[in-house]
Amino acid sequence: MNDATGILVIVSGFSGAGKGTLMHELLSRYEGYALSVSATTRRPREGEVDGRDYFFLDREEFEHMISEHAFIEYARYVENYYGTPRKYVEDQLASGRDVILEIEVQGAMIVKRQYPDAITVFVTPPSAAELRRRLEERRTESAEVIAGRLKRAGEEAELMNKYDYLLINDDLQESTKKLHDIIANAHARMSANEEFVARIQKELRT
Ligand code: 5GP
Repeated sequence: MNDATGILVIVSGFSGAGKGTLMHELLSRYEGYALSVSATTRRPREGEVDGRDYFFLDREEFEHMISEHAFIEYARYVENYYGTPRKYVEDQLASGRDVILEIEVQGAMIVKRQYPDAITVFVTPPSAAELRRRLEERRTESAEVIAGRLKRAGEEAELMNKYDYLLINDDLQESTKKLHDIIANAHARMSANEEFVARIQKELRT
């Protein structure tokens, strides 16, 4: 990474779009990324590890963090709170790593307002039928929760055109490469190179 500070990458997408797998593939294939670990009040799914997948908090702990302004954003999503702890994100960006936030749309819009240079990517499966199939196949949630997630997907679809990039996640390897390329391109934006621009302008003035 040549830039002094990293780029903030906000990834959203329907629950069941395969974002989690995509993020882990991105981190294992490429260097220079940091994945922000969110806090949540939802219960861990089987196999999820506290501090790796989420910081699993009870409602009181979560509300305490809200009162301390410890979140960049937080949102309620299908009966639970989810939030992005501020410190990790800012430390990683300052150290030059590109930080990935995997968050839902309300949170994404709030972060984008605070970090206008962040890039936003919306991940979707190729069709609604495929989304339903993936949610049902996961077998970790009740029919009621699945129905809630599909309803929520309909609401999120109304906001997806506010994102900078669309990523249709059909093939994991291909999607990982596409996401990496999107971020690599963002490093060439003028706004991501202000220090370089200022330096060369100064050099050429003298
Ligand atoms: P899940 O319960 O499936 O892990 O996540 C549900 C939704 O919450 C997903 O759309 C996920 O992207 C979103 N989410 C996870 N962490 C955060 C967060 O810190 N903030 C917000 N706003 N959404 C989050």
